Amino acid sequence: MKEIDGGGVEVRDTILGRGLFACRPFGPEQVIGEVLGELIDDPDYGSDYCMDLHGDAKLEPEAPFRFLNHSCEPNCELVLWKSRKRGRRRYPRMWLQSLRAILPGEELTIDYAWPAEVAIPCRCQSPQCRGWIVHLDEVQNLIAVAVEA
Ligand SMILES: [Zn+2]
Repeated sequence: MKEIDGGGVEVRDTILGRGLFACRPFGPEQVIGEVLGELIDDPDYGSDYCMDLHGDAKLEPEAPFRFLNHSCEPNCELVLWKSRKRGRRRYPRMWLQSLRAILPGEELTIDYAWPAEVAIPCRCQSPQCRGWIVHLDEVQNLIAVAVEA
């Protein structure tokens, strides 16, 4: 875990809606910033953007990290690191970290790794594209779901 350095990203329009882009170079395994947002402790909560923390807790992220798009060949990942206390419980904090060196102007992406039952077609255009936004381990289940449908 290298030094934390806020900023360095911007939200831009893409053909698939908004996305998050680097506006300076990042090295491999560098923390890009903390994903801030509303902490929601409800196992039934769901939204287009919410991210899982440990257990039942979720984070409804604010801009700019709200606009992170999926890629089957991502250049970033979300990591849980440190924690904050709310009430009597401690909750992990979430950070965006680079997986490899990133150049200014590159879109920052993560692997959403969704379960097969909520997968939607993927248009990430990576040579590694699975065709669906789905966890690599769930591709087999996805085929089963498609056959049943
Ligand atoms: Zn893809």
